[in-house]
Amino acid sequence: LLNSGKLIIPRVSPNTNRSFSERTLVAVKPDGVQRRLIGQVIERFERRGFRLVGLKMVQVSEELLAQHYVNLHKKPFYPSVLRYMTSGPVVAMVWEGHNVIKSTRTLVGHTNPAEAAPGTLRGDFSVHVGRNIVHASDSPEVAQKEISLWFQRSELIDWVCCDHAIMYD
Ligand code: ADP
Repeated sequence: LLNSGKLIIPRVSPNTNRSFSERTLVAVKPDGVQRRLIGQVIERFERRGFRLVGLKMVQVSEELLAQHYVNLHKKPFYPSVLRYMTSGPVVAMVWEGHNVIKSTRTLVGHTNPAEAAPGTLRGDFSVHVGRNIVHASDSPEVAQKEISLWFQRSELIDWVCCDHAIMYD
């Protein structure tokens, strides 16, 4: 969009369709942060064409984790998950785009790295289920719950990337 020789990048384009605006929570877990993999994780999502709408480093509380992993409370490994997830900072992010929840689970790979395909984050960077470097929401309901648990509304930015019209039909 050229206006008097100046490139104007629209913040919100008129053709933004809600179905292109699905959002998911991704978190680089403490092992991923310690191993300096934050950039690798972000790179996978950027090169795929998703849009980053929220990002922060947090030292997670047990209270937040109890809500985040509400389905795991009765699992024998739950105490070790709590220890692991509070052992250091986590980098939480929200990614947006068409079918981002499903695509993200595919990018991240199977929960158990031994079953995660090469090319996935877990398949490329981890070996043990208890240290699988990254979290990703696994359904639209869970994504909505997790995003509101980890982020304030004011921490998420509505914007449109300049390649939006090229990437979407
Ligand atoms: P995902 O993270 O793929 O959605 P789950 O929600 O089932 O998987 O489990 C949450 C996290 O708990 C996993 O990512 C993993 O870090 C940990 N976890 C799952 N199963 C085990 C296990 N058998 N032993 C230790 N940690 C586990």
